[in-house]
Amino acid sequence: WFIDQFNTNWQSVMALVWSHRSNRMRQRLILLIVTVTINVGAFWVLASAVRRGEINVSQLTIYGTAMFAVANLAMVDQWTIAVSLGTVAFPGIIEVEQRMAKDASLTMSGVGQADDLPAREIVFENLSFTYPGQERPVYTDFNLRIEVGSSLGIVGRNGAGKTTLIKLLCRLYDPNGGRILVDGIDLHSIDPALWQRRVAAIFQDFVRWQFSAEDNVAFGGVESQHDRDRMKVAAERVGALSLIEGLPGGWDTILSRQYEGGADLSGGQWQRIALARAMFAVENGSSILVLDEPTANLDARAEVELFDDFLEVTRGTTSLLISHRFSTVRRADRIVVIEDGKVTEDGSHDQLVALGGSYAESFRMQAERYNESDADADSETAHQK
Ligand code: ADP
Repeated sequence: WFIDQFNTNWQSVMALVWSHRSNRMRQRLILLIVTVTINVGAFWVLASAVRRGEINVSQLTIYGTAMFAVANLAMVDQWTIAVSLGTVAFPGIIEVEQRMAKDASLTMSGVGQADDLPAREIVFENLSFTYPGQERPVYTDFNLRIEVGSSLGIVGRNGAGKTTLIKLLCRLYDPNGGRILVDGIDLHSIDPALWQRRVAAIFQDFVRWQFSAEDNVAFGGVESQHDRDRMKVAAERVGALSLIEGLPGGWDTILSRQYEGGADLSGGQWQRIALARAMFAVENGSSILVLDEPTANLDARAEVELFDDFLEVTRGTTSLLISHRFSTVRRADRIVVIEDGKVTEDGSHDQLVALGGSYAESFRMQAERYNESDADADSETAHQK
């Protein structure tokens, strides 16, 4: 996608440059003739001096070399410099490639297809994982079964390992031990690029592309990047359609003030765009949706609303909602609490509240704080708590 975009833009801009340059062909031709004449003349003078015996062979060598140097210098134009700068990175790239070829652990293996996966379940089995270069493991023996077609809230304190779990699920890393099974197939054997298309994840630091609203949504499924109708459906489902259509240039508006006719979005509006992107991925065949605290700059109430809306429109899709705020995932079909690299509590909201464990405790405290900071909250929402 990037290469296509780059080529299209490059061609359209360079067309002007090229037409301008071709107008100057005559001047360049004259310049070339003059240069060649001067060079031939200078060598002629040298050759005549040798013939007349005015200079000897060693002097001829020195003058000749000096002339070549001058002629070469004239050829060092901006392109030569650009190319030489560009090649500086080559030795580094070659070294990386050589090291990757030697060490299998540096490349992700797997050639299996990912079509229609998962149909039943995803199972994390006796998983262990330590980040490269770290001593402390995030997981030593982690087990979790995720049923397809339902929503799962994953909660835990900051640093508990929630994001790491998603990174392993997306195969940004492979586990050091144990397995992730997708319908019984070891994720390790599936082509990572094909698998990653099955998962649409929005992370906390989701990317705010300074591209058009259309492109920002299209990244969810580049194979349908011009299918505006499908994009509209995705945007509508997450409440982003009116936002996009209300922009000064609609779908073509670049989402940055740095561009002519561009528009800046608020944090909440960017979230809607990111959601539309994820939803477009689902429209294009992704089957697992992950929201990993894309709500970090929202308050608890806004996070509840966003998660609730999201659960509403994605009902029946396998969705994982991640938050350190225990109080915001209560509508998920099932909630798991992660502590010290293990699932410590597992059940529906009501079951976990009845259990009276750390979910119940954190939920109560966070809900209280939320009520205090939002004393005007409508009574129905307060009652639900
Ligand atoms: P959570 O999402 O629950 O806040 P994370 O999965 O991000 O937790 O982090 C789990 C642990 O792994 C933390 O101790 C964190 O510092 C560590 N960690 C996270 N990312 C990296 C990384 N890229 N390199 C090394 N350590 C990391």
